[in-house]
This record gives sequence, structure tokens and C-alpha cells, in this order.
Amino acid sequence: MSDVPARGLWIDNEMVPSVSGATFATTNPATGEVLAEVAEATAEDVARAVESAHAALASKAWRRTDAHKRSRLLWRLADLIERDAQLIAETETRDNGKPIFESRYVDVPSVVENFRYFAGLADKIQGETIPVKGPFLNYTLREPVGVVGCIVPWNFPLSLATWKVAPALACGNAVVLKPAMETPLTALMLGELAAEAGFPPGILNVVPGRGTRAGAAMVRHPGVDAIAFTGSTEVGRTIMREAAETLKKVSLELGGKSPNIVFADADLGSAVRGANTGIFYGKGEVCAAGSRILVQEAVYEEFLDGLAARADKMTVGDPMGPKTRMGAIVSRRQRDVVLGYIEAGKADGARLVTGGEAATVNGKGNFVQATIFADVTPEMRIAQEEIFGPVAAVIPFSDTADAIEKANQTIYGLAAGIWTRDVGRAHRIAREIRAGTVWINTYNQYDSGSPFGGYKQSGFGRDLGYQAALDKYTQVKSVWVALDG
Ligand code: NAD
Repeated sequence: MSDVPARGLWIDNEMVPSVSGATFATTNPATGEVLAEVAEATAEDVARAVESAHAALASKAWRRTDAHKRSRLLWRLADLIERDAQLIAETETRDNGKPIFESRYVDVPSVVENFRYFAGLADKIQGETIPVKGPFLNYTLREPVGVVGCIVPWNFPLSLATWKVAPALACGNAVVLKPAMETPLTALMLGELAAEAGFPPGILNVVPGRGTRAGAAMVRHPGVDAIAFTGSTEVGRTIMREAAETLKKVSLELGGKSPNIVFADADLGSAVRGANTGIFYGKGEVCAAGSRILVQEAVYEEFLDGLAARADKMTVGDPMGPKTRMGAIVSRRQRDVVLGYIEAGKADGARLVTGGEAATVNGKGNFVQATIFADVTPEMRIAQEEIFGPVAAVIPFSDTADAIEKANQTIYGLAAGIWTRDVGRAHRIAREIRAGTVWINTYNQYDSGSPFGGYKQSGFGRDLGYQAALDKYTQVKSVWVALDG
């Protein structure tokens, strides 16, 4: 008997095997250790989960769960996540390779905050009465969309899942959640905790599996009313094409190549710290990573020296160590992608300032050193393609117009940073940058109340914020009543 734990699919508030009996191993990228054998969902399992979600929506239990009760359930779920915070954080770190500091003190608290924020929304969703012509009463109802399929990536497995699950549940939908194959464990924990909180069977189902099987089946299933997707731009395109067949409501949170722009008048110490966390937080596996650092010529070399000095302190370490700030890349495959881009940077003539090598901890794991390339030109692959790893491309610029032009020279538009003491310039540039989020003299700030999502090929639709939740997870019905007899 193997002593590797087995995890099933989470359907109807029960852990069940997949119909085919297939399983896959999820491993710790820092050690190679197999953490669990997980049931692998295929189209049949997805169909079962969707059926269960529809039954749940039609059930007496959910119909009786009015808005105030939904709010209390979400609040209770937040309490349970807080209760299990340490275990959830450790599981996330083992599955993803991110430092425990990040999962325990950033990811899990933000998940708790997110459920509480959307608990607050649940009982404030309302329609309007509209002054129409004629003897009629006209009013609108804001109703749930129905069954929402949430498909999420591996970089912030629980956190990004709850950016979708919390508002979808707050709005009264049932959810089928497909986590990434690399990191299924905390999503399964979420299913169990939702049941413990009192959500009826079928309201939250979790179906780990391959994107091209379980994910694709969800996108094609006529019983799924909306797809909320976070992942790569390439898969986003496929999803949009596939969803056209059943005309699902689709929202896509996709990749980025975000510029972090440092002007000569900036507080350079802060800019260096912000640029460092902008690219190296989360091993650079962050959709909004400030992976293109644009620096004004007058402070270019001074900034580079400062950034390199900080990067050299970001040594890789055991992700479970409390002082570790650079964990393991999520998989061997992704590590090789990152190393491939480092080679491309060298081949294209960029100057390698620091890092550039794979690394191990205790002789194991998929680590990559914090890497900085200078003298990058906007045409180079490392300036255009999303690397999703700890690799910064530093690009010089001359003046404001040049900075704006270079910042926008990308197919993406997820986020941007601006570092300057000139307040007027900062606000002007914030308007000129085509991106869904702009940070001024800061980077990587998120809040459940502030919408997040992309311009251009970084997608459409927003996560977080109540307005975005209403747009994505409710639909409006107009009701007419004749008043004259
Ligand atoms: P990915 O696109 O490969 O996979 C994301 C999810 O989609 C996974 O669950 C995967 O199994 C599933 N999937 C894959 N192919 C599918 C298909 N044909 N049909 C349906 N589902 C499918 O992305 P990834 O490598 O897991 O994550 C990294 C990407 O996610 C990066 O591009 C990153 O920028 C992006 N991302 C975006 C945001 C954002 O908010 N904009 C946040 C985090 C990550």
C-alpha cells in the first residue's frame, strides 16, 4: 500500500472517485515529493458536476437560502478558512512552491478578506424601478446567471479561485471549479470547507483535471451558463472560440507584460524596492508582474546597481522556511520555459546583469535565480513574451513620450507602475497607459473592492469589486406590470 494520500473529486459535498478511475500525482516542486494522488476529472465527471449544480440551484435548500443567509454562509466560510489558515498555507506552499511567507501572510488572509467582502455584497443585490411611459410598473430583477464554470491557473491557486467563487456564490449561482493540474489541493479543501460552512450539496463542486479534457468539457457543456477564466492568453483564445458554440457568458483574465516605469525624479530607493517585488514576488509567476522595467537614462546605471544588489539577496530557499522569499518554480516544465527565455535574452544580445541559472535547494527542486537583463530593446522576445518567471527586462527611455510609447508597445494591458515625484505627470501617464491597473509609487496592491483585469489581449471582464461581480455573475430581467385593469 502506498502511503501517498488519495484525493477525490468534490461533487455534491462528497469526495468521489472519477468515473474512469484515473488519477494523477501532484508533486512538491521544491523536493519532487508526491503530495497526493488526485482523481482526474474527464468530460463525464464534469457532466456529473454540472448536473449536481443544476439540481442544487433547483433544490428547496438553495431556494430557501435567501440573500441574508447566503451572506452568513460566506462569512462562515471565511471564518473556517481563517481557522485552517496554517494548514491551507502549508498545503499551498507544498503544491505550488511559493514561500510560506506569501501563502500564510498574503494569500490566505486575502482569501478570507475576499469572502467577507462578498458576504457583504450578497444581501445588497437589487434591481430598479424604471419610469416607463404608459400605465405600467416596470422593474428589474438581478438574477444569478446559473451554473458558473471557474477555470483557474496554478500561480495563486486558492486566491485566484476565490476571486471568482466568492462573488459567484454571493450572487446566488452554483459553481463548478476546475483548478490547475499542478495545484489542485487547496481548491479541494475549499470544497470541503464550503460544505462545513453549510452550503448545500452541488453549490460548489471541484473537478481537478487536464485543461484540454475537464476544462474543455466545461467550456463546451450546454449546462454551464458562464465561464470565468484566469490563465494564459493562448488558452483564453481557445475558450472564447469554444464557448461561442453555446453562447456562454465569458470573462477572461489573461497574461501580461507589465511595464514598471522609473523616472529620474523618483525616490530611487522606493523604486528599486518596488521594481524588485514587482518582478520577483511569487517567483515572477504573477500575471501582473512588472517584467518590463523602463528606466530613464539619467538614473539608468544607478538604478540597475540598486536592483541587482537587491536581486542578489533574493536567494532561493526552502519554501517552508519563514525567511525564504524566492521559492521553487511550479513545475520542471515551467522551469525549462523560464530557462529557455534566459537563453533567448542572451542570444538576442541583452546584457545579463545577475542570475541566469537554474538552482536547487538541498540538491533538489525546480529553482531559478533572480535574473536581470539590461539594455533590452522592445523588439526582443524577453520584452514581448510573458515569461512567468523571475526574469526582469530593463529598458532605457529618454523622456515621457518615449516612456509611454514603450510602455504601450505590447499586445498585453494588464497593469503598469509609475515611479515619479511629479504628481501631475503620474496622473497624466496613468491615463495614457492602456492597462487595467496602474500603480503610482507602489506596485502589486490588491483589494477585494478594487476591480482587476485586462485591456487589450490581457482579456476582458474584471475580478474583484462589487460592480464587476454584478456584471459577471448576475443577469438583469425586466418585468412589466399593467396597472390599468
Ligand atoms: P493556462 O492557460 O495553461 O491554464 C489555466 C487553466 O486553464 C488551467 O486550469 C488549465 O488546466 C486550463 N486549461 C488549459 N487548456 C484549456 C482548454 N483548452 N480549455 C479549458 N481550460 C483549459 O495557464 P497557466 O499556465 O496555468 O497559468 C499561467 C497564465 O495565467 C499566465 O499567462 C498568467 O498571466 C495567467 N494569469 C492571469 C491572471 C489575471 O488575473 N489576468 C492571474 C494569474 C495568471
